[in-house]
Parts: sequence; structure tokens; C-alpha cells
Amino acid sequence: MIRRLIDRVLAKTARSPLRKRPKRYRGSEQGMPLPDVSPAAVRTCETLQQGGFQAWIVGGGVRDLLLGLKPKDFDVATDATPEQVRKLFRRSRIIGRRFQIVHVLHGRDTIEVSTYRSMQPAAETDEHGRVLRDNVWGTQAEDAARRDFTINALYYDPVSDTLLDYHDGVKDMQRRTLRMIGDPSSRYREDPVRMLRVARFAAKLGFGVEPKTQQPIRELKDLLHHVPAARLFDEMLKLLLSGKSMACLQELRRQGLHHGLLPMLDVILEQPDDERFVQAALAATDARVLADKSVSPGFLFAALLWQPVRVRWQQATARGEHSIPALASAIDSVLDEQAGRLAIQRRFIGDMREIWMMQPRFDRRTGRSPHALVAHPRFRAAWDFLLLRCDSGEAPAELGRWWNDFSQADAPEREAMLEHATPGGTAAKKRKRRSRRRSPASESGDGSGAESVETGSPG
Ligand code: ATP
Ligand code: MG
Repeated sequence: MIRRLIDRVLAKTARSPLRKRPKRYRGSEQGMPLPDVSPAAVRTCETLQQGGFQAWIVGGGVRDLLLGLKPKDFDVATDATPEQVRKLFRRSRIIGRRFQIVHVLHGRDTIEVSTYRSMQPAAETDEHGRVLRDNVWGTQAEDAARRDFTINALYYDPVSDTLLDYHDGVKDMQRRTLRMIGDPSSRYREDPVRMLRVARFAAKLGFGVEPKTQQPIRELKDLLHHVPAARLFDEMLKLLLSGKSMACLQELRRQGLHHGLLPMLDVILEQPDDERFVQAALAATDARVLADKSVSPGFLFAALLWQPVRVRWQQATARGEHSIPALASAIDSVLDEQAGRLAIQRRFIGDMREIWMMQPRFDRRTGRSPHALVAHPRFRAAWDFLLLRCDSGEAPAELGRWWNDFSQADAPEREAMLEHATPGGTAAKKRKRRSRRRSPASESGDGSGAESVETGSPG
């Protein structure tokens, strides 16, 4: 009788996802390009294993390498606690409070090392408060089960070239399918951000979404309203910096995830007039990401929110308000509106304001003003932004070229350029300056202007 009960319990636990034995492959036979694995990640695994711990590369690093893509970064999962990890690496530090992880530094590379996480959120204690089981740390099987997609739950040991697959991620990779681990509805309820991740990975990898993973999204999308604004910002930034930003935004729209949630996205996706500008900004960002160049989030968000700023600015100047204060209050109103939903970090807001407020200064090509503008520490970013405006036909192409030439010219050449740019006497110059100040972005160019568009340096 007792024997039968034990057998039943064992049979049940053997079926549980946490008891499942992983499929085991040789990484190289599955197409893992060993030479492309980050040496820093390999060294991290070696050191942990020599210290008597398990160590596996997991997540985007494994997925992207198997797909022939260049991983953004490498994460390592281990059974060592953060304290034990830190002791093994001289250049490492523990970060985070609720879920601690360790950043291990090798030269300029940082490897994120996390201890296997358990499915249960809190620790169990006895009546004296003694920790019986620290549920924060778990087994590798538990760690695999709490990851989002099957293709994100592959573990690779570069030392023995072993690939572990708990949830048929290899098969899904071959079928080019994005499949949520576990019951998709519950997983979205647990963390609604996973819906945004569906859109990001489907677009970035060009994968289809498995029907059961897809189906609950329409019904559950409003749960995103309860996600803290800062978390949304982080996830949006990952989406915009994925190298496939336009495809990601289109996927968000297809899933109905953009509505009301991010006013910025409503603006971007539903105002075809300004598509050229936004497309130019996103294309420039993707090109930089794919060329491994830095992208400034401040610049990117300045571009994404430029359209409402410009419209309000123009309306105010049309009512007779002065150009500069009108621009400042247009900026304030757009940023206020945005802040409720998506908390753009303060340091990026500073960059955005600066880039925007410098735009009318490009119209002034007289006196000392151009000299001061090129000497401004944010000139490069503001000029890149001007090129986007030229590119989309909002400002004349000639203006972007003039500022490029001016910034590279020596002193006598600059004086000549200023003379040339401002025919007429002093009074005419003053008149011209006044009228320019009053009519922002009023000139229209041919839009064929900028040879190259860059997104500036990191903000
Ligand atoms: P990327 O190339 O964008 O970095 P990634 O898969 O590495 O892709 P990260 O956001 O860096 O994505 O997360 C690393 C890993 O952590 C994921 O592969 C996944 O296994 C797990 N993960 C991240 N966010 C979640 C989440 N919200 N729910 C469950 N698992 C997650
Ligand atoms: Mg990652």
C-alpha cells in the first residue's frame, strides 16, 4: 500500500517539468561556432568549473550564436551563490538587491553571472525564522522552467561543447518558432512584459509565434498598464536597439500592444505624414546597431518625439509666440504627456531637450552665433538630428551640408562662409534673423540631403 503510494508520487514528480531530463547535444554538431563564443564567457565558465561549480552560457548568447547572429552579450548561469562567484573573480561585483547577480569583468567585456533561480519567489522558514530552504536559488531545471521562450532556455558549456535543452528549444529553433515555456496565459499574468518580448523576438529573429503563445495576448494586453514605467522603458529601449526597430514596432502594432500604452508609439505608428522622419531615425539607429556603433537613447527618443514637438511649436509660433519660448513650452507639454506612461530616464531627457533646443540655432548663420554653436559639446548630436530633418525634407539639404562644411573649416574659411551665407547689409541681416527666429522649420528642402546620418555618441 505504502509502496504503491510512493510509486504514484514518484511517477507524478517524474512528469513534472522540473524533473524533466534535458536533451543533450554536442554544441558543434548543432552549429555552435566555437570560435565566436566570447573568450570572456569561456574564461568565466572555466574559472567557475575549476572552483567546483556548474557554469553554462544561457539566453541570448546561445540562441544568437546557433542562429548565426552576433550576440549582444553573454550571460552565465551557475549553481554558485553570488558571494561564491565574487570570491572567484578579482574584478567582479554583486549588483541588484532582490535578485542578486554578479558582473564579472574581463578587459572591456562584462559577463553577467546569475545563480540558478527557483520557481518560488520567497524563502521558507521554520517557527524560529531559520531558513529551511532558500527558494530564491534553485536547480538548473527550475532555472530553465522560469525562462520565457524555449529558444532562450538552452544551456551551453563551452569547455565540454555540451548543449542542454530542457524544453525542445533546438527543435523550435529549427522550425523558427517562438514558443513560451509553460502555460502562456499564466506566464503573461506573472510578467506582462513577456508580451513585449514576443513582439521583439518575433521581429528580431523573423520567427513565427506558436499559436498557443500568440492567442492570449489580445485578451491580456491591458495588463501592461500595471507594469512600472521604468521597466517599460528598459524593454522599449531593448526593442528599439534590437537592430530591427521598425520591424519590432510593426509587430507591436500587429499584436495590438502599442495602443494607449505608449502615447509615443501611437504617434509614431499612426501619423503617416511623419513616417519619413521616424523611418529615417530608426533606419539610422539600426545601421549603427548593426555596425556595432554606439547609439544615444536621448537622440533616439528626441527623434521619436520630434513630430508632436514640432507641430505644437509651429502652432504656437503661428499664434504669434516667440520661437524659442514656444519651442521650450512645446517640449514641456510633450514630455509631460509622455512621462505618465514611459519613464524616460532623466539623463536622456536632458539630452533630448538640448538636441531640440539647438535646432532653431541652425537657422542663424550670422555673427558669433555659428561659432558658439559648433563649439557646443552637443553640436555633433544636434547636427546629426538636423541631418535627419534634412533627410525627411523638413529642412533644406543645403543647411545640413553648410554646417558640416562650417564645422570643418578653419577661421578664415568660416568668416568667408558667414559673409557668403548672409548677403545684404547689417539691417537686412537683422531683419532676416528676426524672421527666421519666428518661423521654425518653415523651409522645405528636397530631402535628398544627408550623405550619412549618425545618432551621435552615447548619452
Ligand atoms: P538580447 O539579445 O536582447 O539580450 P536575451 O534573450 O539575452 O536577448 P535578455 O533580456 O538579456 O534577453 O534576458 C536574458 C535571458 O533571461 C533570456 O534569454 C531569458 O532566458 C531570461 N529572461 C529575460 N527576461 C525574462 C522574463 N521577463 N521572463 C522570463 N525569462 C526572462
Ligand atoms: Mg541578453
